[in-house]
Amino acid sequence: MLRPPAGGKPLQAVEGCFMARLVLKFGGTSVADREHIRNAAGRVAREAAAGHEVAVVVSAMSGVTNDLVGQVAAVSPLHDAAEYDAVVASGEQVTSGLMALTLQEMGVPARSFLGWQLPIRTDGAHGRARIRHVEADPLRAAAAAGGVAVVAGFQGLSPDGRVTTLGRGGSDTTAVALAAALGAERCDIYTDVDGVYTCDPRIVPKARKIGRIAFEEMLEMASQGAKVLQTRSVAMAMRRGVRLRVLSSFQDAPGTMIVGEDEIVEEQVVTGVAVSREDAKVTLTGVEDRPGVAAAIFGPLADAEINVDMIVQNVADGGQHTDITFTVPKSDLERATALLREASLAFDALVPDRNVAKVSVVGIGMRSHAGVAQRMFATLAARGINIEVISTSEIKISVLIADEYAELAARALHTAYGLDCDG
Ligand code: ADP
Ligand code: ASP
Ligand code: MG
Repeated sequence: MLRPPAGGKPLQAVEGCFMARLVLKFGGTSVADREHIRNAAGRVAREAAAGHEVAVVVSAMSGVTNDLVGQVAAVSPLHDAAEYDAVVASGEQVTSGLMALTLQEMGVPARSFLGWQLPIRTDGAHGRARIRHVEADPLRAAAAAGGVAVVAGFQGLSPDGRVTTLGRGGSDTTAVALAAALGAERCDIYTDVDGVYTCDPRIVPKARKIGRIAFEEMLEMASQGAKVLQTRSVAMAMRRGVRLRVLSSFQDAPGTMIVGEDEIVEEQVVTGVAVSREDAKVTLTGVEDRPGVAAAIFGPLADAEINVDMIVQNVADGGQHTDITFTVPKSDLERATALLREASLAFDALVPDRNVAKVSVVGIGMRSHAGVAQRMFATLAARGINIEVISTSEIKISVLIADEYAELAARALHTAYGLDCDG
């Protein structure tokens, strides 16, 4: 049952059903070519024919953004971030136009909008810009005229009038931002899986589809590597009260609803397992063990906006010196090591390691159950997998392990927490 919108005036009931405002987002595989775009447009046309007010967000065709990123890197390895955005935002321009044309061919009035045309205003952080404001009037006008607005995902307009992009996977965030601005009843994320699974089904074939998952769990899953939703899109949906659904554009299946914790009926201790290969490990050996050293290491990294995730400190010898190990995004590893070598900091060696993976177990049930971490450690120990760093939050435990064991670890943990499907 659809609820009337949180803000704004309720829409009229049509033949006993609510006429809803919906945002439909189609990811790269769902708009991979003309045939897939036709399939996606068919879904839009069906919602419009049911009397719903529909706005659409599209990604670039799958593979296109990767190709554009590669072209930028080939021309200019240390590229200007504003020009990177000018290039990589272009994939979504093509699909938004093709989607609008396809809808028109189906008899559905449609118009495409690029980020700057609404506009979707962002900050100036090229490559990872944050949305500040969505001007939704053009969308409302399109709907009032009985048409469908097709918005290019992933892009916005900086304060100085340049094209920005929202970070990889950012079309999800465009969709949620539009849904919030329009007071939509729901934001549907159409993708190549039929929902959020207990682990990436490409890694764990026995993964199960989750019917409902709490925002907080989805936020942890996404930030720990479940790329089915961009982390920022989940955070925004949680903050703005947007009802989010993940479902397949290829089959008619109910999908996964991301909901408030109060709507979770059956609480699992562990809801899912996530794997991330985005981080690299840095170890500084022989660092002086005195007050201020951690600040001297992490201060320059923070100033350079390098995100440090896991940290462990060991006392290495007689209490005078210590080893410190931490993780940074692989994409920032070179910058981080250069900054540490330049910092006024004494150490014996700086050892970077890209061959690591982070495996996490997530679940709101952890708050009220003991022994979750112990099961994780015992499971990994039984497979001879060494844990290099551990970090925890109230609803998550992450371990850093050698990259080669990531899939084995994910499968073993999935079984150990009783998540495997029967089939
Ligand atoms: P799109 O192009 O539609 O945005 P993405 O590739 O960004 O699609 O996200 C969908 C992919 O996310 C799936 O194909 C799947 O491999 C991956 N994925 C990772 N973790 C999960 C998970 N827990 N549940 C479902 N899919 C997941
Ligand atoms: N096309 C962009 C990417 O590949 C944005 C998205 O698909 O969400 O990252
Ligand atoms: Mg995506």
